Amino acid sequence: MFDIATSGELLAEFMAETRGQRFDATGRFHGPFPSGAPAIFASQAARMGARVAYAGRVGDDGFGDLVIARLQADGIDVAAVQRDGERPTGTAFVSYQQDGSRQFIFNLAHSAAGRQTLEDDQLERLTACRYFHVMGSSLSSPAAIGIVKRAVARVRARGGKISFDPNVRPELVGRPGVSEALLDLLARCDIFLPSDADLDWLSEPGEDIEQTAMRLMASHAMSLLVLKRAASGCVAYRGGERFEVAGLTVTEVDPTGAGDCFGGALIASLAAGRELSEALCLANAAGAHAVTVLGPMEGCSDLATLEQRLVAAGVDE
Ligand code: ATP
Ligand code: MG
Repeated sequence: MFDIATSGELLAEFMAETRGQRFDATGRFHGPFPSGAPAIFASQAARMGARVAYAGRVGDDGFGDLVIARLQADGIDVAAVQRDGERPTGTAFVSYQQDGSRQFIFNLAHSAAGRQTLEDDQLERLTACRYFHVMGSSLSSPAAIGIVKRAVARVRARGGKISFDPNVRPELVGRPGVSEALLDLLARCDIFLPSDADLDWLSEPGEDIEQTAMRLMASHAMSLLVLKRAASGCVAYRGGERFEVAGLTVTEVDPTGAGDCFGGALIASLAAGRELSEALCLANAAGAHAVTVLGPMEGCSDLATLEQRLVAAGVDE
């Protein structure tokens, strides 16, 4: 039995060395770094001691070796990570612009990641979990949506909980079936982990963020909604309760992966039986720590690192 399982894109990421670097000119890149939003989530949860299982697909190449080696080094079960003999491991190139925004070139749909399947034995292994986490970025094609839906239905039937980070990507929501799949997961999740931008996407005219959150709580079966607010920390809603946790003060080096680490730390903490208030403090610290380190998965942290950060910030969990 796993504490947490997840499924989705695995890739090798390359980061432009210079801020403002363009993709239409020759330049230098750091990398490859192991990456993929669900993988960052899984790594964070595993480093905090959770028993984590992963399903995905990489190529039969060095990038695939890199990604699998990292998952294994974190103690993640990779029995449902497939190797594709024909397509290479997915890749992403990222460049930070002068205004702090990010530009990406993804090669996922035509990579190994785009041909992931979930065999019956892999489904059974993966769904023996207490929490199954879905990243909206993984709902990128009809086949990928089908995998997530099968896993979610099986986990629910076996009594597990679904956590869902919508991670709404503007370039994905226009694709056939993607926004429907996001809304479908919203209706099926127990724990919902949006950012401000995700709630904007779900808002109705005239609503502020708080009103949107309250409406979603009232109209869906979820028991917990945690709103991620970048440097401002987070706000959680559970039943009639509201918990607000201020962000830790850190120097931001690379914001990629903060939300994924936040989610991984939160679900790992809840799976370990921690109180919500304590889980939120640890998640906040995990997100803050993530932005101080260059590289998508490089900023994942263990419990001791998070406790040090909280002590240094004077936070009493
Ligand atoms: P991502 O860009 O990875 O998808 P997200 O938009 O889902 O992230 P954010 O709100 O940006 O989520 O970050 C998640 C959490 O990380 C925040 O709720 C906060 O706890 C922490 N965090 C992010 N940025 C900062 C920062 N600059 N300073 C302190 N904490 C931060
Ligand atoms: Mg963000």
